[in-house]
Amino acid sequence: MKNWYKVSKSNKNICGNCNGQFEGLQSLDHHSGICPECRIDCIWFSFKDDKTLQVIPEYAPKGFLIFIRWAQKELDELEFLELVVSFEEIANALK
Ligand SMILES: [Zn+2]
Repeated sequence: MKNWYKVSKSNKNICGNCNGQFEGLQSLDHHSGICPECRIDCIWFSFKDDKTLQVIPEYAPKGFLIFIRWAQKELDELEFLELVVSFEEIANALK
């Protein structure tokens, strides 16, 4: 299975598909974007501590892809942010 996500630290974004590096793509927008290097469809999320998560839908597990598509369609930016914060809270509690 190819990498379906990539976490980058600091403000450099690294593409999980092509390993291209670039700056300034991350935002709280959960809608689809593309990698400027390899043009693959992906979604960029920025988190606290300057971490960036890139999700590559075409390589993602099917259930996760359905979930992402649902979130893109049904949730606005604020609702999506609340969802991410909720997941972070659960993830931290599980550590
Ligand atoms: Zn790329």
